[in-house]
Amino acid sequence: MTDGASLSIDREALRAKYRAERDKRLRAEGNDQYREPSGKFAYLLEDPYTPRAPRAPVREEVSVAFIGGGFAGLCVGARLAERGITDLRIIEGGGDFGGAWYWNRYPGSMCDTAAMVYLPLLEETGHRPSMKYTFATEIFEHARRIGRHFGLYDKALFSTAVTSLAWDDAAARWVIRTDRGDEIRARFVGTGTGPLHRPKLPGIPGIESFEGHSFHTSRWDWAYTGGDTAGAPMTKLADRRVGIIGTGATAVQCIPPLGRDARELFVFQRTPSSIDVRNNHAIEPDWFATLAPGWQKQWLLNFATLQTGGFADEDLVKDGWTDIAQRIRDRVVAAMGEPGATFGPELVQRAYEDSDDEKMNEIRARVDAIVKDPATAEALKPWYRQLCKRPCFHDEYLQAYNRPNVHMVDTDGKGVERIDATGVWVAGKHYEVDCLIFASGFEVGTDAERRAGFATIGRGGETLSQHWADGMRTLHGIHVRGFPNLFVVGLTQGANLISNITHNLTEAGSTVAAVIGHALATGADEVEVSEAAEEAWVKLLESSPRAFLGSPDCTPGYYNNEGRPIGRRERLNASGYPAGPVAYFSYIDEWRSSGDFEGLEFRRRG
Ligand code: NDP
Repeated sequence: MTDGASLSIDREALRAKYRAERDKRLRAEGNDQYREPSGKFAYLLEDPYTPRAPRAPVREEVSVAFIGGGFAGLCVGARLAERGITDLRIIEGGGDFGGAWYWNRYPGSMCDTAAMVYLPLLEETGHRPSMKYTFATEIFEHARRIGRHFGLYDKALFSTAVTSLAWDDAAARWVIRTDRGDEIRARFVGTGTGPLHRPKLPGIPGIESFEGHSFHTSRWDWAYTGGDTAGAPMTKLADRRVGIIGTGATAVQCIPPLGRDARELFVFQRTPSSIDVRNNHAIEPDWFATLAPGWQKQWLLNFATLQTGGFADEDLVKDGWTDIAQRIRDRVVAAMGEPGATFGPELVQRAYEDSDDEKMNEIRARVDAIVKDPATAEALKPWYRQLCKRPCFHDEYLQAYNRPNVHMVDTDGKGVERIDATGVWVAGKHYEVDCLIFASGFEVGTDAERRAGFATIGRGGETLSQHWADGMRTLHGIHVRGFPNLFVVGLTQGANLISNITHNLTEAGSTVAAVIGHALATGADEVEVSEAAEEAWVKLLESSPRAFLGSPDCTPGYYNNEGRPIGRRERLNASGYPAGPVAYFSYIDEWRSSGDFEGLEFRRRG
């Protein structure tokens, strides 16, 4: 354990610094500081990758329809196919499968979670990841591989946006309408519309007046920049002055290639990200021969266990995610060995704070060790707890600032002042740019309906947004009272394992397929969570909140409602199984394997 006395002095100063930095960033508008890409920016929602080919409207009835062709839809589709349920329709706004990985093709795009656990269904599809952390092209290709392997391409309607989803109670069918004039009637419907697909823009004064070129990172304009997702240089930027707004996980990945290729790159920063070591490396194909069948399940469990503070003989993934959790765990163990120690929230909190202080000091020291210009290095140091914002891992990001053409424009927590026809203003200084890239993230805290782009209307005309006005209410994050035969696929109110999103989705896929399989086998027309079961689940979630919302003194961001007060609604919208992800995975496996499906009502009509 760290020396308590000396750390307590440092701690005071550190806390004061964290608070001062946070206070600079708090904005009364909260989420309202952002704007939707509408009006002049409506083109930012268009698909730059696939032309929209005209087609005749589809009118059909299917057993199962799934809205969203990202990993959620693919995992559900795969698990249904494994059970021989193939009367399926997948509806996807993009021109292919992939979801987040269809849209996010910006240069340098990769996944921060190790491929051996992030890429779903590796054993089922026989794919061997090429690197410890794979780039977006390989992830997108893997999504397509799942589509091919499980015969899901025949089931897909791409470049099709759902406009409404309504329960027809008389017929016991969901009716899906789309922007292609389709009317699809389905006995069961799943939704996997993801929390991170709808771009948002900063509400910076004058943003509309910019007359140069602009785009959002999730709609990369390769025609303008040159180059490609595979890493070819963006030769068309060689004589361009480029500005990028934002320094979150996306910007951290695309700034190194932009710095390499642009004549000048101006990075407009409000809050620096924490950048830990990446240590990416190729995976030897021969090494896979050493893995026994069932290895991916073992790796998934090992990662989830260590990442959430559990014990395992070996750390299979061994990276920044497991390191954070293991430091805390080891401190708890050490403290328990001290005379008179009692296990409890205080001891855990202390271990967490000590580990975090140590980790963040290392991260700040790394900036000094890499970035040559002292003022730039100072600006790049994060002054907050690591989990207040999305932790980042990169081995070329900080180095990019040593290039003479890469300029850090730090706004000291205030954000860009304004934008005009030719560039960006910060602290009274004008930066002229030819191109402005918005790395400003996605809508997270807004209403579910607005993010999905359509309303889900349940029995009696109530919308899902209305049902969730005071916060999400479900059983397992999947089943919602008043919305029979609907399956919501995500992580909230289930495992809520944020370090490995796809693990939540493969499990949800198995659960949804098991419930649908049971309903079909028993001839049930409807399956719906009972009011009591929904109520009990919500109560359980609230009994020991395991919401991922950072702490109240965190720097503002989408993890903590942009620093605005966090009430019951926010907690429910970010909550997970109180005993943690590993316990949830074991619980849900038992729940669906038992065949009882406790809490669900299976009903036959007439
Ligand atoms: P974020 O929302 O994380 O970042 C948006 C950035 O825009 C922030 O740096 C923000 O500053 C900045 N910003 C907003 N308004 C202004 C303003 N007025 N002036 C200046 N700057 C401004 O979006 P990202 O796209 O980076 O990441 C979104 C999420 O996507 C990640 O958190 C992660 O979950 C996921 N992701 C995952 C990856 C993976 O490897 N699996 C890779 C990339 C993304 P501030 O911080 O001060 O709010």
